[in-house]
Amino acid sequence: MRQPLIAGNWKMNGSKSSAESLLNGVVSGARGLSKTDVAVCVPYPYLYLGESLLAGSSVRLGAQNLCTEAGGAFTGEVSGSMLADFGCGYVICGHSERREYYGENEASIAQKMVRAVESGLTPILCVGETLQQREAGETESVIGTQIDGIIERIGIDAFDGIEIAYEPVWAIGTGMTATPEQAQAVHAFIRGRIAALKGPIAEKLRILYGGSMKPGNAAELLGQPDIDGGLIGGASLSADDFLAICQAGEQLAA
Ligand code: PEP
Repeated sequence: MRQPLIAGNWKMNGSKSSAESLLNGVVSGARGLSKTDVAVCVPYPYLYLGESLLAGSSVRLGAQNLCTEAGGAFTGEVSGSMLADFGCGYVICGHSERREYYGENEASIAQKMVRAVESGLTPILCVGETLQQREAGETESVIGTQIDGIIERIGIDAFDGIEIAYEPVWAIGTGMTATPEQAQAVHAFIRGRIAALKGPIAEKLRILYGGSMKPGNAAELLGQPDIDGGLIGGASLSADDFLAICQAGEQLAA
């Protein structure tokens, strides 16, 4: 069994004081966890706080985006090396909100993944279909295209050691969750796609589920054979809810 990873995606939420109490809450609640990896992907301004408050704990720090370029005249952007400088271990690449609102596509996402790895960060590559695509029976072709678009650009070996998050767009922030069977089917499809090219990479690849995962549905989702963790949006803004999901991972991994 792959060790579960529960990663919070705070999105553009919080303040200095709420970030501080959330980070402290997660650190103290995560102390007893030994079989589950935990990370929080915070907004850029709170990275410094995250670096200091997570120091000495097992909770890893992550960011939600990075620049396609390594450095220089790119006003408003943040490089992978800057994230690493603040102690980040993870960075989310290609979240559906960035694909939809900021025009990210396979070319820019692949470039960001390269920059992440160059900087020593682990990319969390997000893929997922819209409701319209699901209803049209296109889920596998959409996800297959998203994955193939990255492989064509940076090769299958770039999937060695990364994390993938399957996030059905229709389940993000909506309260609608994929059923464990629906999610498992897509996770198995993703693993199969990678396995067709490199079996050993597929075998160890962690595929997280994201889309309204909460304390009440986490155990059932995390209990599926190809669901290796969660990318948690809304529920990661409450230390209690986030930690309850981490506990679900811990119990299944026990
Ligand atoms: C996300 O945006 O990565 C996510 C999974 O959000 P939520 O848990 O709120 O659906």
